[in-house]
Amino acid sequence: MAEEIKNVNESKNFIEEIIDEDIKEGKCQKVVTRFPPEPNGYLHIGHAKSIILNSGLAEEYNGTFNLRFDDTNPMKEKTEFVKSIVEDVKWLGADFGDKIYFASDYFDIMYEAAVKLIKKGKAFVCDLTADEIREYRGTLTEPGKNSPYRDRSIEENLDLFERMKNGEFPDGSKVLRAKIDMASPNINMRDPIIYRIARMEHHNTGNKWCIYPMYDFAHPIEDATEGVTHSICTLEFEDHRPLYNWVVNELEYANPPKQIEFAKLYLKNVVTGKRYIKKLVEDKVVDGWDDPRLVTISALRRRGFTPESLRQFVKLSGISKANSVSDYALLEYCIREDLKLKAKRVMAVVDPIELIITNYPDDQTEKLTASNNPENEAMGEREMTFGKKLYIERDDFMIEPPKKYFRLYPGNEVRLMNAYFVKCTDYETDENGNVTKVYATYDPETKSGSGFTGRKVKGTIHWVHQDTAVKTTARLYENLIDEEKGVYNEEDGSMNLNPNSITVKDNCYVEAAIKDAKPYESFQFLRNGFFTVDYKDTTADHLVFNRICSLKSSYKPGV
Ligand code: ATP
Ligand code: MG
Repeated sequence: MAEEIKNVNESKNFIEEIIDEDIKEGKCQKVVTRFPPEPNGYLHIGHAKSIILNSGLAEEYNGTFNLRFDDTNPMKEKTEFVKSIVEDVKWLGADFGDKIYFASDYFDIMYEAAVKLIKKGKAFVCDLTADEIREYRGTLTEPGKNSPYRDRSIEENLDLFERMKNGEFPDGSKVLRAKIDMASPNINMRDPIIYRIARMEHHNTGNKWCIYPMYDFAHPIEDATEGVTHSICTLEFEDHRPLYNWVVNELEYANPPKQIEFAKLYLKNVVTGKRYIKKLVEDKVVDGWDDPRLVTISALRRRGFTPESLRQFVKLSGISKANSVSDYALLEYCIREDLKLKAKRVMAVVDPIELIITNYPDDQTEKLTASNNPENEAMGEREMTFGKKLYIERDDFMIEPPKKYFRLYPGNEVRLMNAYFVKCTDYETDENGNVTKVYATYDPETKSGSGFTGRKVKGTIHWVHQDTAVKTTARLYENLIDEEKGVYNEEDGSMNLNPNSITVKDNCYVEAAIKDAKPYESFQFLRNGFFTVDYKDTTADHLVFNRICSLKSSYKPGV
C-alpha cells in the first residue's frame, strides 16, 4: 500500500508536464492558477478535486492560486452560495491569499474588450431573434449562414452596442456577436454571442448593467486580467478552447493564459451533479445541502470526512484526460486511514440489550483502564466504569446460535472488552420474543491485563456500564442510491433512491469518555465504525453521531 501511494506521489501528471515544459521554454515565470465556481449551488467532491488540483499546483510551483467567483450570470446566483463556497475552499486548506476575486468586478474591462473587438471589425451587433440565430447556425454536418447584420459598419456597431448598454433596447432584441467563421467545423466558432441584453439585478453590481457577457467571452478575459498562466478546466470545455484562444489573441494579451482540460471526477452510484443534488434538496429527499448522505463538501465535512482524507482521495484517484469512475469505497479507505491513528477508540452500544452480571455486588462499581488507541500509544489511556448492569449489542447475543458464532449464547463464555470473562446463564424476552435481558456471571480472576493465562475464549464483545454511559443518537447511513438500479432511472430521468439510506438509533449508549465531545470530533466506536459528532442536530444535552463509515473494507486501491 505505502508503495502504491508513493508511486502516485512521484509520477508527474500530464498537467505538471505541460507546466514544466512552459517553464523550461521561458513561457511562464510564475504559475498562477484559479478555481472559478459559479455561485449557483454548494460545492461537491468534484469541485474539491479541482480546488485541490489547482491550489496544489500553485503550491508545488511556488505560484499563486486565486479563488474567483464566476458570477457573470445574475439569474441563478446567490450570496448564500458565495458564503458556503468560501468556507469550503478554506476548510479544504487551499491557500487563496487574502483576496477573493469576482468576475463581475471586471464588467467594465469586458465592456472595453468588446468595444476593442468591434473597433477591430471582429464583433457586430445582430438583430436576429434567438430562433433565427439557431437556424442560421447550421448543424454538425452543415455549415451555418452569415447573419444579414454581419456587415454593419464599425461606427454603427459601436453606436448600437453603446445604446444596448444604455438600456435603449428591450431584453433579447439584440446581441453582440464575435465575427469568426460561420463555416467553421466547430460550432462554437460560428459567430458566437458574446453579450446579451437582460434586465436582471446582479448580486454585486445591482442594476448598473442591463447587458451581460457570455461565459466563453468572459472567462478568458477573467483569466488574462488576473495573470492566470494555466486555466485548468474539465473536458467539456475542450471544444471551447479555440474560442478561448481566439478571444485572448484578438484582445492581444501579452502573456495569454493556456487552457488545459482534465477529466471530471465521477463516483460510481453517487449523485455528483449540482443540478441533481439541488433537486434532492428541493424535493426534501435530504435534509439540506449538507445532509451527510450527499457528497457536497459541506455534507462530507458534516459526515466526518477530513480535508486530509479528501486530498488523499484526489491523489489516489489521479488526474487524467480520460473519463473514469472512482469508487466511493476509495473515499472510505482514505478516511479510515486518516482516522486510524487520530481518533479515540471508545465502546458504544448502538442497539442495546441489558446484560446483568448476577454475581457482581449490587451497589459496587470499579474503574478499569484502557488505551485510547492501541495503535497510537501517545493518545494515552482512559478510565471506564464497570458494574453489575451493562448494555451489550443486540447482535452479540443469540438464543440459538449458528455454527461458528463465538459471541454470547446460553452456556457460552466471552470476554467483555477491557474487562472480564462472562458466562451466559439466562435471558428474558418480551411478549414478541425479542430478547430484553441477558444474565451472566463473571470470573474475577480474568480481569483484562491481569496476566490471566487460564482458559481461553473465542469471542470478545464490547459493552458499556448502564449508569455512567451517555445516551446519544447514532445515525447509520447507506448509499442514498439504490445500487442495484444505478443513479438514474432511464425512463423518466429521475433518481433511483434507496429507501433505507438512513437508520436512526436513538438509544445509542456510549462510554462516559465522550461526554464533552465537540461537533466534528470523530471517534472509533469499537467494532461499529467511525463516528463524528453532528454539528447541526447535537444540542447542549444530547449528542448526535453520524457514522462516517464502517471499519471493514472490501477495498484496496490498485487491486
Ligand atoms: P456541476 O457539473 O456539478 O453542475 P459545474 O461545472 O457547473 O458543476 P462550476 O461552478 O461551473 O460547477 O465549476 C467550477 C469548477 O469546478 C470548474 O472549473 C469545473 O470544471 C470544476 N468541476 C465541476 N465539476 C467537477 C468534477 N466532477 N470534477 C472535477 N472538476 C469539476
Ligand atoms: Mg457550470
